[in-house]
Amino acid sequence: MKILATDLDRTLLPNGRWLPDPGAIELFNKLTEKHDVLVVYVTGRNLKLTENAIKEFGVRYPNILCGDVGTSIRKYENGEWKFDDGWVDHVKRESPRWDAMAIRDAVTGIDGMREQESEHQNQFKQSYYVEHEKKDQVLKKVDELVKGKFDEVIVYSFDSLDGKGLLDFLPASATKQTALEYVAEEFGAAKKDVVFCGDSGNDIFPLTAGFCGVLVKNADEQLVENVKKAMNQNPELKVYFAKGDFKGLKGYYTSGVIEGAYHYGVFDSDI
Ligand SMILES: [Mg+2]
Repeated sequence: MKILATDLDRTLLPNGRWLPDPGAIELFNKLTEKHDVLVVYVTGRNLKLTENAIKEFGVRYPNILCGDVGTSIRKYENGEWKFDDGWVDHVKRESPRWDAMAIRDAVTGIDGMREQESEHQNQFKQSYYVEHEKKDQVLKKVDELVKGKFDEVIVYSFDSLDGKGLLDFLPASATKQTALEYVAEEFGAAKKDVVFCGDSGNDIFPLTAGFCGVLVKNADEQLVENVKKAMNQNPELKVYFAKGDFKGLKGYYTSGVIEGAYHYGVFDSDI
């Protein structure tokens, strides 16, 4: 069983400032249907925002959704979402000191950050908006108050589209990377049979975790740089940089995902 996992925003979904190839999403839907591949969306979006994206852009339903930056896992079967309670148990076991409310208390009052709306929080995700120009002082303060105390990871990302800094506190065992590792293990897929596609920020973790990585052509410069650095340090890492000029596609978003899937043999024939 091969797994094709992908980030959504600006990776599978064409919601950045580059022009998408018309028909690329329909092609992705058809190719994944034709080939025996398990499709996994690995995204910061919650369930509702994922469903909105499916409706808005016409991408197919995934087989598995690792949502809320990997803090929730759902299977989509027979037209219904099934929440994976096993994942919750796993995270609690692996990160016993995790305590979202204690983190909330610890960071209350830090200048330059404010709590995100309740739909962006869950038992394993405590999230904030950060004034990007105050990022350094905010992160320094956060490190002092939180780092290493709650079996947590602290992930900062910058949404270049709307200029928002985003700060997530997650259990160290519940990230995009570990959620995908859990799914791969459940389906008995070796890491070499898992392709992960991304474009920015927190995609660095699954891209450098031993899966077959793909960067779409519109990937952030910062991510490209960080991935290249990781590849220099670990020559075993496999990451493909979508180039475009491939079967009439330009390599941005969905087209880059398709190009990467062909590169690793997840797709091996045309429609
Ligand atoms: Mg993205």
